[in-house]
Amino acid sequence: MERLAVIRRLAAELRLDACGVCAFDTERRPLLACRAASRLPGGARSVITVLFPYATDSDEPRNLSRYACVPDYHGAAGAVLTRFSEMLAEAFEGERFEPFIDNSPLPEVACAVAAGLGVRGDHGLLISHLYGSYVFIGCVVTTLVLPCTEEHAVCLHCGACAAACVGDCLPGDGRDTCASALSQQKRPLTAEQEARVLQSGSVWGCDRCQEACPMNRGKRIDPHPCFTWYIPWLTRETIEPLEDKAYAWRGREVIERNLTMFEQHRGT
Ligand code: SF4
Ligand code: SF4
Repeated sequence: MERLAVIRRLAAELRLDACGVCAFDTERRPLLACRAASRLPGGARSVITVLFPYATDSDEPRNLSRYACVPDYHGAAGAVLTRFSEMLAEAFEGERFEPFIDNSPLPEVACAVAAGLGVRGDHGLLISHLYGSYVFIGCVVTTLVLPCTEEHAVCLHCGACAAACVGDCLPGDGRDTCASALSQQKRPLTAEQEARVLQSGSVWGCDRCQEACPMNRGKRIDPHPCFTWYIPWLTRETIEPLEDKAYAWRGREVIERNLTMFEQHRGT
């Protein structure tokens, strides 16, 4: 069986149905500075990219960005990606496979696009052909030489994400005014920043640009089984246990501040 077919078969065993390959090409896709770069295998030739869909078909009200309604992907999806790397190492003896998810020197969206898994939207996120934008991206860097699965497709540039944006930060990277970034900020929020977070409707994260995107319609809703629970409405009672929550890395104070902000807003 050709190498790519073996990789896709192993991926499918772990329910990683979106799986593609691009070259490890640091000229076309420069590495990002991060400590995890020390794990990159010498002689890397290819990057295998897989997607972890997390959207559900629940229509329950949410006060969290969709990605934060499920277990923190660093642990949940990270464990699956590590297993995938082990299976690849067993299948291709003598080659190295190193998994990266989020804390990664790889530009993950660029790798996923280069592997033909989707397009980069004007909101900066990957829009997967299969699942839309509600996906986490995992990459495995390998010494194995593989054919690239690249395709050429672009976002519609329709402007719907920019029109729906509560941070007035699209197009652009919007770090200063994006409601998602502000909800994660440790520094006290100004009145204007608070207003943006309140407008997002989420005590953590913001999905407004993704909800508006027409390229998200009609996509497969099939959350990866590693996401074993779904809590769409956060209260003080459901903050704990903190460890496996998407907001844990910022500490309890930040999420409690946001909850208080929404409570006070409802009380006014
Ligand atoms: S809303 Fe339109 S412009 Fe924005 S990412 Fe989606 S398709 Fe692209
Ligand atoms: S997450 Fe919210 S604030 Fe940030 S770019 Fe998207 S719509 Fe704008």
